Amino acid sequence: MEKIRTRFAPSPTGYMHLGNLRSALFEYLIAKKENGTFILRIEDTDQKRIVDDAVKFITDTLSLCDIHVDEGPMQGGEYGPYYQSERLDIYQKYAKQLVDMGKAYYCFCDEERLEELREEASLRKVAFLYDGHCRNLSKEEILEKLANHTPYVIRQAMPKDGITSYDDLVYGHIAVENALLEDQILIKSDGYPTYNFANVIDDHLMNITHVVRGNEYLSSTPKYLLLYQAFNWTSPEYIHLPHIVKEGGKKLSKREGDASFMDLYNDGYLPNAIINYLALLGWSPINNQEIFTMQELIENFDYHRINNSPAIYDVKKLQWINGQYIKKLSLDEVYKLVMPFLENTYDLSNKSKEWVRELIRIYQNHLSYGREIVELVSLFFQDEIIISDEAVEFMKQDGISHTLEVFKNQIENITWTVENINQAILNTKEESGAKGKLLYMPIRIKTTGQMHGPELPEALFLLGKDAVLKRLS
Ligand code: GLU
Repeated sequence: MEKIRTRFAPSPTGYMHLGNLRSALFEYLIAKKENGTFILRIEDTDQKRIVDDAVKFITDTLSLCDIHVDEGPMQGGEYGPYYQSERLDIYQKYAKQLVDMGKAYYCFCDEERLEELREEASLRKVAFLYDGHCRNLSKEEILEKLANHTPYVIRQAMPKDGITSYDDLVYGHIAVENALLEDQILIKSDGYPTYNFANVIDDHLMNITHVVRGNEYLSSTPKYLLLYQAFNWTSPEYIHLPHIVKEGGKKLSKREGDASFMDLYNDGYLPNAIINYLALLGWSPINNQEIFTMQELIENFDYHRINNSPAIYDVKKLQWINGQYIKKLSLDEVYKLVMPFLENTYDLSNKSKEWVRELIRIYQNHLSYGREIVELVSLFFQDEIIISDEAVEFMKQDGISHTLEVFKNQIENITWTVENINQAILNTKEESGAKGKLLYMPIRIKTTGQMHGPELPEALFLLGKDAVLKRLS
């Protein structure tokens, strides 16, 4: 069997949408499952963008996520260069070849003429399609314009009739009438290729076996297939991925403030948890397993199980998965994860290192992401605690003030240790007769303002005796 080769082909924009990262992940998994090759190709044919930092950003993100590139700008490889901007002569050569074969043509229409066509189309309320004006220029006319350096683009000459179809591995049979396809631009007037051309040339020359990308390319793929046919090349398999959408169906978008990979990372989400979550966005394993190491993903991933309905981005689920990963960290690792957030928010100068470590330890199992530590532990750094309406309601029950009074007396004269606090709670139970929720909850609410949290004796110990007594009064 032919060795699987997949590619991640980002444009260097300087950030990584979750959708992009998911494409990279699926491409990686599909290749690695069969011991194939995963390629990084930088699609930098839009020269207005600054590339250097953006490429570093992409490669840093992939390595944080444990996605290893086999061939690419940094690794090199037999099929380079891996920057499209360094492959311009290749695109030129193949475009000219298409012109010679009559499958593409020079178009000298200027912006003014195209603008008129666009206006006309908009008046008639139809989609603008180039009208093929330059398709039948005579050889002499073409040579003359070229000799005069008239600016031109090269357009694909679409067949006027027939149907082009393919079987997408996720969406099934896709068929388009050729008459509806525009004579799309392959080479722009600045000599750069369009995505529509470069993706075909590169996927072919780089021997890509499976093209995995967002479904925005689903309906333009027939145009690409006509290029493969023109060259008499075999086309790769196509795996188009459903969009990641928000609740309500809107696409995730950076412009609307939706989180990118780096936003999540900077909020203290763990890259391997993000990857685990993304794997489940659009793909489902055979069983109900939800937590996967990269190795398990590689073994279990099966593109036949990619679903073609939109994948809904669910922050709660991401947080749950991330929380599972945080639980498994060592204390040192959690410490490293949350310390920057603590230091940036609170004055820790009068707290010992042990105290801070203990605080982090008792909250480890309650954390969904690093930055969340700030709100979880705010009660340790504020004089005034805020009590929720729900908690206020709870405190209205009979007997609660008595229980609190008993507890206060119990702790007044003890040495402040976790064990003694625990004993004081047990004594309070004995003396007041309160038990279960009616024992712990009032103490928790009165001292921490919260209805949920870490083990009560441990939390009280860290709060300190003075603060606890003060809050009880
Ligand atoms: N540069 C394209 C993008 O970022 C790549 C699409 C593809 O994978 O073919 O959308």
